[in-house]
Amino acid sequence: MIVDTFGRVHTYLRISLTDNCNLRCFYCMPEEDYTFTPASRLMQPNEIETLAKIFVTNGVDKIRLTGGEPLVRKDAKDIISALGLLPASLTLTTNATRLHEFADVLQAAGVRSLNISLDTLQAEKFTMLTRRDQFRQVRDNIDLMLGRGFHVKVNAVVMKGINDMEINDFIRWTRDAPVHVRFIEFMPFSGNRWNSNKVVTMQEILATVQQQYEITPLTGDQHDTAKAYSISGHPGTFAIISTMSAPFCSGCNRMRLTADGKLKNCLFSREETDLLTPLRRGDDVLPLVLQNIGSKKKELGGQFTTDFEHLHPENIDNRSMITIGG
Ligand code: SAM
Ligand code: SF4
Repeated sequence: MIVDTFGRVHTYLRISLTDNCNLRCFYCMPEEDYTFTPASRLMQPNEIETLAKIFVTNGVDKIRLTGGEPLVRKDAKDIISALGLLPASLTLTTNATRLHEFADVLQAAGVRSLNISLDTLQAEKFTMLTRRDQFRQVRDNIDLMLGRGFHVKVNAVVMKGINDMEINDFIRWTRDAPVHVRFIEFMPFSGNRWNSNKVVTMQEILATVQQQYEITPLTGDQHDTAKAYSISGHPGTFAIISTMSAPFCSGCNRMRLTADGKLKNCLFSREETDLLTPLRRGDDVLPLVLQNIGSKKKELGGQFTTDFEHLHPENIDNRSMITIGG
């Protein structure tokens, strides 16, 4: 078992396959001419499989592939197929632009649930936010995966003055389709133009929804990062990920492996442990994993508190989101 000093058992591993992406969401990728990590410095498929097996042997029962955009990696199909054979549930966070090429391989690998990012239901705004004209492809692919019976969660980062006026449009979508919308509070990362005025808090999101709908809280489990709600007559649900205003660190069971093989014990951790170099040398990496998780801070990587209104993002020491793997 992989346990930290607060008794939190770590059973969930998020693996970033690449820091490359075919979209340019401004809050995630710091600049247009960002230099992606060269392939030689990325974990290779056999290295990902070896590391994943070490984690699974030590209690991990859920693996999520992420990025960057995991599906832009040329060998993504091989990686998905290999990890699908491990005794852990496999899932994916994706921008959905390439899902039509991967539906079969995901199904064959036993993937049943997908997290898909979509911050707006308006085509023009999508192009503005992501700097790519891919809205139609994303919407079609969501319908494709719903048609194939996948459980689809839609992640929307809510930002004041940008897409907060669409909150109830997303809620209407949960009436028309079995989509599970998750509103995410906007988080600060290196170079992502965050400021506290752009954060729309859980309370504000709830108040907006309650202006038009009667909502019922759903019971979750202790590891949930989202508080979920249902609305009578809607096949879908909605949830809020309140990292900024009400973090859920006490039930945290997550570890993150970056595409270049560094272990991060928190989205906001300063410290990283290189697993790839020792693995390539033939060393045993398990002691490094235990040491890294053993040094996990109680909350938010020890870098800030929930008083985000007074937060100075320049004082947070971290990678950009695209290089962590959200
Ligand atoms: N490319 C894939 C995608 O977009 O789903 C996977 C990687 S992306 C980094 C994972 C998630 O992180 C996305 O849902 C994205 O919206 C979220 N994200 C990125 N930057 C964020 C920020 N500053 N605050 C909150 N969520 C963020
Ligand atoms: Fe790419 Fe996902 Fe980041 Fe958007 S949020 S730039 S799709 S990695």
